Amino acid sequence: MKKIALDLDGVIFDSENLYRVYTEIYDTDINKKDTIIDNTQRLFQKRYNWSKEECNKIYSEIKEDVIKNANIVTGVEIVLKKLMDKFEFIIVTARDDFETELSREKLNQIGLGNIKIFNNERYKIDRLINEKVDYIIDDDADICANAADNNIYALYLKNNAANRINKEKVINVNNWGEIYKYLVFSYKKF
Ligand SMILES: [Mg+2]
Repeated sequence: MKKIALDLDGVIFDSENLYRVYTEIYDTDINKKDTIIDNTQRLFQKRYNWSKEECNKIYSEIKEDVIKNANIVTGVEIVLKKLMDKFEFIIVTARDDFETELSREKLNQIGLGNIKIFNNERYKIDRLINEKVDYIIDDDADICANAADNNIYALYLKNNAANRINKEKVINVNNWGEIYKYLVFSYKKF
């Protein structure tokens, strides 16, 4: 059975979009001006012209709210349940122990609590290789490109319609419907 490593933030949880909401509110209400420099960036630290200190301060203020309130991304529950008998899934995430515990509770609520989670994985690649993963689904362009360089097919779930990775073994997808279609067609080839 082919093995797929899932990311949590921006793939299973809609946390990256919630960061966008909180940071735009901050810019509007606190900075009282538009300080955005590159709206296509996944990380808010790269979207605004904020100093490192300012970024750290904002991050510590909003992080817990984001993790606690982020919804499951549309389609996750439907698609994963349909694919469970065709693929083996694991989760590889940068989340720390506390954040992972919160995600476990939410995954339990939708019947997906039995997926094995590897957390505190900042760069992921060693884990992906050790676990002999065939595919990853991630919203981090660097992680996707790195996986593809190591012969792992990367489904890049874009956070912005303008973003694309043009690279062998990288598949650009916009939503869980497209993920489903790609994986089912590739499954039929085996
Ligand atoms: Mg992510």
